[in-house]
Formats: sequence, structure tokens, C-alpha cells
Amino acid sequence: MKEEAGPTSPLINRRGFLTCAGALAATRGASGKTPLLVDNGKSEYSIVIGQEASLPEKRAAGELQQFLEEMSGARLPIVTANGPLRSRSILVGDSAALRARKPGFDLESLGAEGYILKMIGSDLVIAGGRPRGTMYGVYGYLDKLGCRWFTQNVSRIPKTPRIPLLALNETRQPSFEYREPFFAEALAKDWAARNRQNGNRMHLDDWTGGKVQYFPFVHSFLQLVPPEKYFEKHPEYYSLIDGKRRPGVHSQLCLTNSGTLRAAVETVREWIATHPEATIYSVSQNDWTGWCECDNCRKVEEEEGGAHSGPLLRFVNAVAAEIEKTHPDKLIDTLAYWYTEAPPSRVRPRPNVRIRLCPIDACIAHPFEQCRHDAYFMNNLRAWSEITSQLYIWHYNTNFHHYLAPCPDFDELAADIPMYHRHGVVGIFLEGAPTAAGGAENAELRSYVMARLLWDVNTNVRQDIEDFHHASYGAAAPPMLEYFDLLHRQVRTAPGGRGAHVWIFDPVTAQYLGQEFLDQAKILFQRAAALAENEDVRRRVHKARLSIDYVEVNRSKRFLVKDGWYAPADLDALKSRWNALISGVRSFGMDAIHEHFLIADDAALFELRVRPYPVVTLENTRVAVHVVPALEGRAVSFVDKATGRDILFHPDVGDRQYPNLAGLVAAPRTDYVATDAWDTKWSVEPGTDNSEVVLIGASTNGCRIRRALRLIGETAKLRTETTLTNGGAAAIEAALMANIQMAPSDIETSALAFSKRDGAIVHQTLLVPEQRPGSNGAYDSPDGPAGEWRIVEATGTKLTSRFATAQAGRVSYSWSAKGAPVISLTVWSERHILNSGDRLQLDVEYDPG
Ligand SMILES: [Zn+2]
Ligand SMILES: [Zn+2]
Repeated sequence: MKEEAGPTSPLINRRGFLTCAGALAATRGASGKTPLLVDNGKSEYSIVIGQEASLPEKRAAGELQQFLEEMSGARLPIVTANGPLRSRSILVGDSAALRARKPGFDLESLGAEGYILKMIGSDLVIAGGRPRGTMYGVYGYLDKLGCRWFTQNVSRIPKTPRIPLLALNETRQPSFEYREPFFAEALAKDWAARNRQNGNRMHLDDWTGGKVQYFPFVHSFLQLVPPEKYFEKHPEYYSLIDGKRRPGVHSQLCLTNSGTLRAAVETVREWIATHPEATIYSVSQNDWTGWCECDNCRKVEEEEGGAHSGPLLRFVNAVAAEIEKTHPDKLIDTLAYWYTEAPPSRVRPRPNVRIRLCPIDACIAHPFEQCRHDAYFMNNLRAWSEITSQLYIWHYNTNFHHYLAPCPDFDELAADIPMYHRHGVVGIFLEGAPTAAGGAENAELRSYVMARLLWDVNTNVRQDIEDFHHASYGAAAPPMLEYFDLLHRQVRTAPGGRGAHVWIFDPVTAQYLGQEFLDQAKILFQRAAALAENEDVRRRVHKARLSIDYVEVNRSKRFLVKDGWYAPADLDALKSRWNALISGVRSFGMDAIHEHFLIADDAALFELRVRPYPVVTLENTRVAVHVVPALEGRAVSFVDKATGRDILFHPDVGDRQYPNLAGLVAAPRTDYVATDAWDTKWSVEPGTDNSEVVLIGASTNGCRIRRALRLIGETAKLRTETTLTNGGAAAIEAALMANIQMAPSDIETSALAFSKRDGAIVHQTLLVPEQRPGSNGAYDSPDGPAGEWRIVEATGTKLTSRFATAQAGRVSYSWSAKGAPVISLTVWSERHILNSGDRLQLDVEYDPG
């Protein structure tokens, strides 16, 4: 179904083609009258294409014919120029007729996508380079006549009996060579072509002049050097981590090994043979850390200023050099992402290499040049743009944990896409939500605004946003625009806004999603629903409103301790609201509300996790600690009774794993790198009183874990004593870890402080200007703390963690200032091979002071 704003629409009267045409000045004939392409529903013009017209040029002529007719009722004939032309002509693409007019320009010089719009005498020329230039020229001309394609179903084709002939002489190129808003809403062929996008996943074909096509798209190391093919014979092709060569998950490749390179080149050649349609092949790191720590890789990193991107880019260049010998037209892609985001100091990308730089840790509320949390990224961007003129960007524009949560990043997008252009960036992938039927927050508006910006960074974004709202919501547009502005005021800087920062994994309790905002939003959505003129608009308003419902329902999931149980305040009400939410979401065809997971799995996990759990409470005059045995023996709160402050971090209530997250835990792992918890069933040992609880864990691999949590006298100190015993017959590789995730009261001044065993003092402020708003690290024995480390803030010590150095093999930490600030401290035992009957012990004390 197609909807069009009618001729009486205030939108068209305000911003329709008549205004456009006036501003552009139409050509005037000798009579002084404005010449017309269509007058009174009739036209003297034919659309002329060449005998050798390409498929996209034929499409271009057809699209021009269709939309001029939709506008005016006049159907211009499409003719193939193979003789003298009798009528006035719109010359579309290359043809003998165009060349006969000696146009004075060379279409090949316009490249794959550039075009020219020009009057030659009374004829209009719309022509461009191949494959897509002419087609984009037609859409460019129609754009000037006021045509817009907002969504797959909503467009604005102005209605008029008179279409002026615009006096143009302009040559256009897109702002970026690669343009991909990655939302399900942006994939349809017609929408993508009409909005002049050329992204990898879009359903573009030969009729639309193809696209920029990747193979594989990203994170390709596992495919490049498959462990199942190589690991057994060549473990040295894979990352050395903590002294072991590790294939697969949590590992990358050893990038300085010549065998790894040979295997990679072989695979890329296979990819080119099996996927010749691709223009760019991705040689890029897996989506986790685990870089190689071998001597050669470390040495290259040192030569490259300490950058992990050094070994990576040398490797990618070496692959690209080999591929260039046989396939000089193919490009090789890699990522500057996460641990490889900072550029190397010496090596430079070869001409056939494209780097995709990813601002994964950036605040997306504010233009990057204006937000202090984004200074680190701007430094990386400047440094990369100095060493390559072929830089691509992988930008993020949704909440990946909550596709439906309001994401106020349009000010940032409007500023940063042009900012990238100023820094010489030539391609942009805008990662959003590619769910089956779309439906992520504001995905249609996002796709439209992004496409406009990617084609032309000088587009008027506010105008685009308003045009979209008027076309999509009709009479309901004013409250919908008010909502859009209300949302963005939560993050705009003072005095106009509240100044909150936004990150792409924010919790549903983020600062910018406060109750006052939610309440105001609900009023605006009610008003919009009441103003909706038809069922389509009412559905669109309902879909937009799901964002607010989503946040509220998830927030009511918050678990609390009450009467010996850990449960949401009103479980029955929550369940019915959750079910209503999910069926609302499904009614729009959405199949996912988080990255990587389907709604069906979320619904199953909700059933499994969201229920009451028995709680064991430890309590003295100073503190109360609540332990939930069924949640992997997790302590879920650790409250100072005097202040009411819980030092434990409260995880995102909207996380699909909630409430089985965070808190204070102790458990075995295979080694320091393995993150998977052992499958363990926990129970409470009889004899528990309010100062001590003993949890017994039985793991499926035959191990037994005894974990005691004890308050020490009438102090605020909590001691955990954990013993792992191998009760099975086989030897087991194991380490014990004790982890606390704490909520800093002031992340701005938080620091990690301790004395090393050699007496050296470490005082490491976490949040540092021009550095990422989160990081992690580790100290191995004997370089680590001398049995005690602390989190201190400006107002004093907030947490001291003590342990026996004889038991500890490593301590590690991580922290984040993003969303809900958190600091995580882990003490690890020594690693051991536990023979049958062997035991491992780790005791840690936590003192909130
Ligand atoms: Zn290596
Ligand atoms: Zn910010």
C-alpha cells in the first residue's frame, strides 16, 4: 500500500516542489514564461534512452515515467534513440542522441555513481557513470521535484498538473562510496535504490546497478583459517593465550606465522572463486579479544607503538599483496575494532585494503567532537585518517541489548556523518537492528535520515525528520515530533537539555529514561493515537509507543528481597504485562528484541528465570548480605545498614539473563581464560545462622565445591572461603575465582589502589580524559597486590578486598563508566591439575569500610 501526501497537504504547500522549483529558478523561454515539463496534465517531452542502455538505465527511464505520471497524470513515452528525435527530450543515460548534441562532458569521468543534470537547448539531460549514475540522477531530479520515499510503504509524490523544467547544470557525486544503513527497513530493493544506497545486505540487483558486496561480511578469522582443518597439525596458527595455543571461541590467529598467512591467502582465493560477485573480502578479527601473545606477535606490537593493530595490518597487507597479483580489482577489508582500534605507528594500509574503524565505546548522544567520552575515538579517527584515504566507518545506532529502547542519537548522527566526511572517510556502515520484519526503535526514521545523510552530508536533517513525521503520521505528527524532541532533550546539553550520555548497551534504567520522561511520553502517545486519521497511522503510533512499554515492563522486573524471597514486587502483574508486550511486539512481525537472540528464546528464558528464589540472609549490626543459592550461590546485595547503600552493582533488569547476573560469586573455571561456568547445582548446608552460610555445589564433572560466606563479628567485613575438591576419578584442570561487581558511588574519582609485593605503590585512576570509558587488566603473581587491593574515591576507600598471596595466582579487574558504572574485581587461585581427591582453596575478604 502506498500513501501519498495530497495536493492540499500543508506539507506540500510549505515545502512542495513549487517552492523548490522557485528557489532553483526554472529555465525561461523567449516568451519569458516558465517552460514546463508537464502543463495541464500533458507533456511535449519523451524520455529517450540509448539503444545500448544498461538495465539500471532502463529502470531509471521507467521510474521517471512512473513518478512523473503519478505527479501529473502525464505519461511520457520512453523511446529508444535510433534516429532524429521529433519531440522535446529528456535524455536519460548515454545514447547516440546525447552524443549528437556534443554535451561537453564525459560520462566515464563520473565514476560508478556520479551524474549530471543539465539543460541542452530545450532538452533535459539526466546521465551518469555506470552502473548506477544515471539511475541516481533520475532520483536526484525527482527529489528536486519534491518526491520522497520515506519507508517501503510511505512516500510523498506531490500532485500537480504543472511540472516545471528546472534550469540545472550540476554534477553530483555521493558523499560516500559505500552507504549502508543496516536495518531491516532499509533492505528493500526499491527503497534502497530510490534513496541511493548501495549496501551489502540490500536487495539490490542488476536492475539497480548492483551494490558494494562483501564476502564474508565481518569477523572472518574462524572461516579464514578453520580450526577444524588446521589446529590439530598446526596449533601455532592460533593465538597463544596464557601459555596455550587456543583455537576457536575467545581466540584469534597468530598473525606473524607464515603458515597462517599461506592458509589465509588460500582461503581468500577460494572465496573469490566461489563468490566472484563480491567486491570486497573481509579478513577480520573474531568478535572477542584473545590476540596472540607469542614472542613474534609481541615484537611486532612493540615496533608498531604497542598497537595490536600492528600485527593485524601487516598480516592483512600481506594477504592483500598476494591477492592483488591475481585479482587487482578486488579489495580486502579488515576492522579497527575494540583492541585494534588504535592505529599502528609504522605500517600503512595498502591501496587495496579498506579499514573499518568502529567507535564501539563512544557515547552516541552527543556529537563526537563535543562529548568528553568520545575524545579517545576522535584521536583514533584523526590518526587513521592521516594514514589512509580509504577509511570506512562501522557506526552504531541502536541499543543492542534493547532494540526497542528509546535511543536518542539523531543529533549525534546529524553531526557525525558530516564529521566523518570532513575526516576523509569514504564508506559508512550504520549498524542497527536487522530483525526479520524490522521494528526496532525509530528504525524507519533512522534508515531514512541516514540514507539522506550518506548520500549527501549537506541534507537538512531537521527538514528530513519533519517531512518523515508529516508523511507517516499525518494529523498525529505534532505530538510525535514533540515526543522525538522530548526524547532528545534528555541528552542535549544544558540549558536546553539534561545532558545524559548514551551508550549502545545501556540498561533500561539509564539516566535518560527517567520516570518523568516516560510519563510525558505516554501523554504524547495518547494524544497522537487520538489524532491518528486511520488504522495505518494508529498502528505506527502503537509501534512507536512500544518503546515506552518495553522500558516500563522491564523496569518492573526488578527483583527485591522480601520475607525470605527474592522476586519482582508484583510477579503476577509483571507476567501479564510481559505477555502483552511480547504479543504486541510479535504483532508487528518482530522476531528479536536483542542482538543475537530470538524473541522465542527470550520468552522461554523469562519463564525460566523470572520466579521467586529463596534467600539466605547474613546480618549483624553493620551490614546485611542476601545470598540466593539457586542463582549460582550469588550474593545479590551487600547493604550498609547505616547508610542504606548497597555496594553491589545492580545489573540491567532488562538483561535476558537477569537476575542470574553480577553480585558476588566464587566458582571454579578450567583456567583463567575460560569464561564458561561449570554446570553446578547448589544447595545450602544445614546449620546456617545469620552470620554464616555454607553452600555446597556439585558439578557434573564430579567436583565438589564448598563455599562459606561469613560476617566477621560486628564488623562490615564479609569473608568467603571456597574449596574445590575433585571427587571424580579423572584429573581436572581447574582454577578458582572469586568475583565482586561493585557499584562505585563516584566513578569520576574511582581508583584502583594497592601495594605490590615489592612495596611499589599502585594508584590507578580509572576514568582518564581522552581514554575509553572502560577497560580491564590483570596482575599475575608475584607482580600483583600484596594481599590487599582497594577501590578508593575522592571521599575515601569504598571497598577493600583481602586475600592470601600464597593462594592467589592472578588478580584481574574490569570497569565501565558507561550506562550504569561498575567495577569488577576478581581474585584467582593458582591454576592446578587436580587429581582425584585433590583440593584447591581460595579465601577472600570484602570490607566496605
Ligand atoms: Zn603470534
Ligand atoms: Zn556524551
